[in-house]
Amino acid sequence: MKTIKIKNSKNEISIGKIVCVGRNYAEHAKELGNEVPEKPVVFLKPASAVIYSGDNIIYPSFSEEMHHEVELVLLIGSKIKDASLKDAENAIAAYGVGLDMTLRDVQSKLKSKGHPWTIAKCFDTSAVLSEFVLRDDYNLSLDEEIFLTVNDEERQRDKLNKMIFKPAELVQYLSSLMTLEEGDLIFTGTPKGVCKVSKSDVIKAGIEGLAELTTKVI
Ligand code: MG
Repeated sequence: MKTIKIKNSKNEISIGKIVCVGRNYAEHAKELGNEVPEKPVVFLKPASAVIYSGDNIIYPSFSEEMHHEVELVLLIGSKIKDASLKDAENAIAAYGVGLDMTLRDVQSKLKSKGHPWTIAKCFDTSAVLSEFVLRDDYNLSLDEEIFLTVNDEERQRDKLNKMIFKPAELVQYLSSLMTLEEGDLIFTGTPKGVCKVSKSDVIKAGIEGLAELTTKVI
């Protein structure tokens, strides 16, 4: 069973479902030729896809174009359904940074056929997580910058406030679609700059002042 590691806490929380949001930064939607959505684009990843900072991303044999996507990740701390904006905000227990590794070639083929993105998003090691920081210990202003480097070369950097749907809005919307429970994770979308990675690349990513992670592609 995969768990969330929380900074300054011995508690380890079991990961439930992982709900991911796509196209939540306008410039990223445009770089992939997509329209900016009126409602968040939603898909799921399994908990079995999770690895942690220091672990390796294993390049799947069925893709030749794996992309990095750095994202703010929310940990849900209580059960909610059809939540108000305030209750949605209060259900966010902690923040971390994560990578939503994506098989872009596979995803493009699936999209063209109108099929779900599952195969492009759910492979083992496709969700890389940092340590999490409790919301009680950190006041997220959204003025923070989220960034990612590959072999020390910067690929992604943007302010979190460029998110189209803000964290509490996302949680409120998702809770209108499905019950959210303690241990669920929400990936909130990636800024512009997504790019292909290769075997032996070292990826470092973070949100300034909050959390960082390092991983290698093998
Ligand atoms: Mg993503």
